[in-house]
Amino acid sequence: MNIKVGIMTAPHISCEQHPNGVLLHDVRIGIGFHWDRTEDQLFEGTMEIRRNPDGSETAINTLDVEDYLSSVITSEMSATSSLELLKAHAVISRSWLLRPIMEKAKSKEPRANSREGYTDTSERRIVWYERDAHVGFDVCADDHCQRYEGITRRDAHPEAAERVRQAVEATRGMVLVDPTDNDAVCDTRFYKSCGGRTELFENAWAPHHYRYLESVECPYCNTRDARVLSQVLNNYDQETQDFYRWTVRYTADELANIIRDRSGIDFGDILELKPLKRGPSGRIYELEIVGTKHRMVVGKELEIRKWLSRSHLYSSAFDVERVSAGDTNPKQDFLLRGRGWGHGVGLCQIGAAVMADQGFTYTQILAHYFPGSQLKKVI
Ligand SMILES: [Zn+2]
Ligand SMILES: [Zn+2]
Repeated sequence: MNIKVGIMTAPHISCEQHPNGVLLHDVRIGIGFHWDRTEDQLFEGTMEIRRNPDGSETAINTLDVEDYLSSVITSEMSATSSLELLKAHAVISRSWLLRPIMEKAKSKEPRANSREGYTDTSERRIVWYERDAHVGFDVCADDHCQRYEGITRRDAHPEAAERVRQAVEATRGMVLVDPTDNDAVCDTRFYKSCGGRTELFENAWAPHHYRYLESVECPYCNTRDARVLSQVLNNYDQETQDFYRWTVRYTADELANIIRDRSGIDFGDILELKPLKRGPSGRIYELEIVGTKHRMVVGKELEIRKWLSRSHLYSSAFDVERVSAGDTNPKQDFLLRGRGWGHGVGLCQIGAAVMADQGFTYTQILAHYFPGSQLKKVI
């Protein structure tokens, strides 16, 4: 089974033949994240450069599903990852990828893409971002879908690539299914760290409850063990150390500027950040921003994270404190005390790495983060 991956869109795309595939120049990675940068990347399979109506170009890579999975997992993980962790990741990456394709084959709409409840007015902006934004390919290569760098990393890290290949092979064609819903392929999301408890799907995306995405306790991701962390954090991710508990501090002026730049709305001075709704993990999914010129409710979690940081806030699970900015400044600073990194729905990568390190098998890891789901070979 083949899959089409949208690698990049740019005014002009430059690529060349390479002995091992196609070399694409200046691919931008981590867009909007703190590791935003460009690099050259190498791809196998076929590469098509498509001209868009606005004159820009899009590079689309077509390749086998299992080869794609080997690549995305090599990008996500490192050479030291345990085999059980890699197998768990292979199953969730495959499920996430195949779900919309298999649901479409059953001629059902992918339910997660329902936009029911999506509102955008001057008082409320409650939005979420789904993969149905893509036209002309199945998934993109950035973190919006799953980070995909072709075989760039495979050739640079042959040992990691070999372990990943073993994990993909050992779970070939296997996905998680929901036995309470006609064995529908599960919507298996993942992120770096839940911060102690996982979040419900409906608090991050469309208002739909999935039984296998019940909020569960995660006593595992509270670790600073570099040996375990290095299994799920690539070098650029390790630039960030604090994710289980973190703090961000802004002066009142800084925060007002960030929110104005990121939302395009001038709130004046920010008087208050008021969490209105929180999920079980503590993630805020409706936040009221009260300013001297405007007040508004923003959600869901990703939109909140975008508005409150120049790059991305690690998560929307935070408490707000006002603290003195010194004797000469009457405007108090905003101190955000947060937990976790990412949306918190589904598999906690750092928690899963710790579980694997403690001797849990991949089936036990999957059963923990996706309770009630079952493994099934579908291709
Ligand atoms: Zn995408
Ligand atoms: Zn966790």
